[in-house]
Amino acid sequence: MDKALLRNIPRVDELLAPVRALCPNASSAAVTAAVRRTLDALRKDILSGAARELPGRDALCALAVAYARSTETPSLRPVINATGVVLHTNLGRACLSERAAKAAADAAAHYSTLEYDIESGERGSRSAHVEALLCRLSGAESALVVNNNAAAVLLLLTAQAAGGEVIVSRGELVEIGGSFRVPDIMAACGAVLREVGTTNKTRAADYAAAIGENTRALMKVHTSNYRVVGFTESADRAELAALAHSHGLPFFEDLGSGSLFDLEAFGIHGEPTVQGSVRAGVDVVTCSGDKLLGGPQAGILVGKKQYIDALKRHPLTRALRVDKLTLAALEATLRAYADGTAGNTLPTLAMLAAPPDTLRERAETLCARLAEKGVCAETVSEEDAVGGGSVPTQTLPGYAAAVTPRACRVDELAARLRQREVPVVARIAHERLLLCVRTLRADELDALAAAVAECGR
Ligand SMILES: *Cc1c(COP(=O)(O)O)cnc(C)c1O
Repeated sequence: MDKALLRNIPRVDELLAPVRALCPNASSAAVTAAVRRTLDALRKDILSGAARELPGRDALCALAVAYARSTETPSLRPVINATGVVLHTNLGRACLSERAAKAAADAAAHYSTLEYDIESGERGSRSAHVEALLCRLSGAESALVVNNNAAAVLLLLTAQAAGGEVIVSRGELVEIGGSFRVPDIMAACGAVLREVGTTNKTRAADYAAAIGENTRALMKVHTSNYRVVGFTESADRAELAALAHSHGLPFFEDLGSGSLFDLEAFGIHGEPTVQGSVRAGVDVVTCSGDKLLGGPQAGILVGKKQYIDALKRHPLTRALRVDKLTLAALEATLRAYADGTAGNTLPTLAMLAAPPDTLRERAETLCARLAEKGVCAETVSEEDAVGGGSVPTQTLPGYAAAVTPRACRVDELAARLRQREVPVVARIAHERLLLCVRTLRADELDALAAAVAECGR
């Protein structure tokens, strides 16, 4: 260790002015902290012997600038999703419509009618804002909204099945990402899971044989993120509802994605709708707000008044309640379904419905912008995905700009794109970077082309 080196480390105030000049947007507290951090790290390196000479002023300033910029950049921030996965759970699932985003921003910045009845001037109900809409759209008698679908299932089973048994098909013991497993959630609720049938086949008779005096409910879980294919059979909703009701029991369904829109219209097959389950006689249906519904994160419960009313009185409900931003965004999203504009205005539905020709043209436009900047790219057809644990077996025919980097490896290019201020998340296939256009907005193409050109140098 060299004492002279330690003595010659610049003082904090010597670096403040040059660093501040290089990042004028950073606060003075952030600049000071960044300079301190840089000099502390240098001191440590000298003491440990890792640094044997002093870096130049410019190098130290550059380090401090990088620190200052990284602390000023928000951690949770927008990214460009070039994966072609519409409901990308790690990238935030559904993007809100403009109307829903504005409703949330308004509710956030102003006082609101959250729990205020303007007719009477007295206390109102926070869930009333969306309940009537949910009932109208789903055909159910009553509705309730909680934080997410996991919370909806937790509340339903705690209130209706604790201390008793719930009968579920072996083929439906689902695990979705983030450690939500049906058997575990049952255990957490104090309910005993009674599995019936086999992995590939469960008939109504299997449920009937399992009903006993401890049975509290029959339950169906939508196999959102996988399908059992081949020699399969599962009991029909109406048949299970009739069976449950003939024993005085309720029949529940965790629908997962919870589409209010029949996706057959977009060529997406086999995804049930909320209203379809209600019509088939399911007593309480639960689903997510931010999957196929295209709204904010929320857990939606719709069904018979007798069960939903009991849930509203349950003490857990208060702990699971949603905030005003969510309610505002959800109401605006549901209004789009009610007034018939959902297909055009909700980004999730618009991305799922995008015709192949439109996507090919968008990919060609992106390739042209890339070519203008000297990047070698060609339009290729690619399989996109719905994502978010929805419609697992079906891909969507899409298009991508496939980039062949000239000056670096493809994984290096992908890593540099991820580390930008507005990170770009893309796919890699066959040594090329795929920029899938289904999940890109038209106004992102220029910025994306510039980013790829810069990072590929
Ligand atoms: C996604 C999903 C859940 C969890 O929903 P969150 O809104 O993410 O809490 C539960 N059950 C099924 C079947 C799902 O697909």
